[in-house]
Amino acid sequence: MMKRIYMDNAATTQIDPEVVEAMVPYFKYKYGNASSLHSFGREAYEGIEKARKQVAELIGASQNEITFTSGGTESDNMAIKGIAYKYRDRGKHIITSQIEHPAVLETCNFLESVGFKVTYLPVDKHGLIDIESLTRCITKDTILITIMHANNEIGTIEPVREIGEIAHEMGVIFHTDAVQTVGKIPVDVEKLNIDLLTLSGHKIYGPKGVGVLYKKDSVQIQPLIHGGGHERGLRSGTENVPGIVGLGKAAELSKNRLPDDSAKLTVLRDRFINRVLNEIEDSFLNGHPTKRLPNNAHFRFSGIEGESLILSLDDKGIAASTGSACSSKKLAPSHVLMAIGLNEVQAHGSLRISLGRNNTKEDVEYACDSLVEVVNRLREISPLWGKGRVTAAASEGGRSED
Ligand SMILES: *Cc1c(COP(=O)(O)O)cnc(C)c1O
Repeated sequence: MMKRIYMDNAATTQIDPEVVEAMVPYFKYKYGNASSLHSFGREAYEGIEKARKQVAELIGASQNEITFTSGGTESDNMAIKGIAYKYRDRGKHIITSQIEHPAVLETCNFLESVGFKVTYLPVDKHGLIDIESLTRCITKDTILITIMHANNEIGTIEPVREIGEIAHEMGVIFHTDAVQTVGKIPVDVEKLNIDLLTLSGHKIYGPKGVGVLYKKDSVQIQPLIHGGGHERGLRSGTENVPGIVGLGKAAELSKNRLPDDSAKLTVLRDRFINRVLNEIEDSFLNGHPTKRLPNNAHFRFSGIEGESLILSLDDKGIAASTGSACSSKKLAPSHVLMAIGLNEVQAHGSLRISLGRNNTKEDVEYACDSLVEVVNRLREISPLWGKGRVTAAASEGGRSED
C-alpha cells in the first residue's frame, strides 16, 4: 500500500488512541444520562466533571468557567451572540478582524443584519492586527472585541495579551478563538487577559463534535440553546458524554505533551520551510516569519494552481490543503490571503502544510522531495509559468521581503 502522510492538522487531527480508549466505556457501559440520580447517571456526571477539570487545567481556568458545546463553531457563536444579546443595551459595536474563521465572521455578519455595528480590522502583510488601530476603533458603544489567537490558514499568532489589556482598560469584553493555539503554544486565560475563549476537540487529537467555551465567572452571556438547563443553564441538551470525556483526555494529553510537541513541531516546520524556500524558485512563505504556529508552513508558488498541487500531492499520499479547509471547496480566493494583500492568482497558488504530533522527520523529507518534484512538473505544463515568471518574481519584491 502507498505510504499516506497526513499534513492537514489545521483541518482536523487523528484522534489519539488513548482518547479513544477513554471514550469507549462511555459508549458501552457508562451510558447513563448525567442528570439522572442513579448510579448510571452519577458515572456519566463524574466523567463530565473530570473532563471539565482536565480542560480547565489546560488553560488555567476554574472548572465552573468551562462549558461544553458541540465544537468550535458553536462556541464562537455562543460567545459573540451571547455577549451581543446580553449587553445590547450598553452598546451595539463589536470589533473583530478580517481574517477570522467563518464561525466568527459569519456570526458578526449576522449580527450586523439585526442592528449591530461591526468593525473588521485589517491586518498587515504578515497577518498581524495593529494594536493602535484597534485602540482607535474602540468607542463608548463597543461591547466586544473578538480576535483569534492564531490564524487557521497562515498560522500568524496575534498579540492577544495586549489586545486583552486594552480591552480591559476600556471596559470592553474580549473573546478569542484559540482553536489553533490550544495544545500548541501555552494558553493561560489569566495571563492573556481573556474573558471568553473557544477551543475544539478535534483540533487537539480529540473527537469531532465537541468543544468548549471558557467564560470568565464575572462575565455574563445570554444562552443560545434553551431547554433543560444543562451546563449551568448556559447550554441545554443532554451532554455528549463520550465526546466530553474524550475532549477531557485530549486536553490532559495536550497539557503533558505541549513542551515536547511544540519543540518537535518547530524543528520539523523550519526544516520544511527552509527546504522549500531553498529548493523551489519563486516560492514564498505566507504569514509571519516568527510569530507563527509551530506546526504551520504556508507557501505560495508563482505559476502554480493550488488545486492541482493538492491533487498531485494526494497522488503521492500526502494530504495538505490549499487556502483553508473551509474555503477549499469554494472557488472564491481565501479571505485571509486577500487580507494580507495577495492577488487572486497568488492566493490560488498557495499551499498550507499543517504538521501534527505524529509526523516524523522522514515524513517531512518525503513531502519536501515530492513537493519539489510536483511543483517543477506542474510548472512545465503551466500557462502561468514561463513568460509571466519574470514579472511575477519582480512584483513579489524578492523572497527577503517575506
Ligand atoms: C476548526 C476551527 C473552528 C471550528 O471548529 P469546529 O469544532 O470544527 O466547529 C473555529 N475556529 C478555528 C480557528 C478553527 O480552526
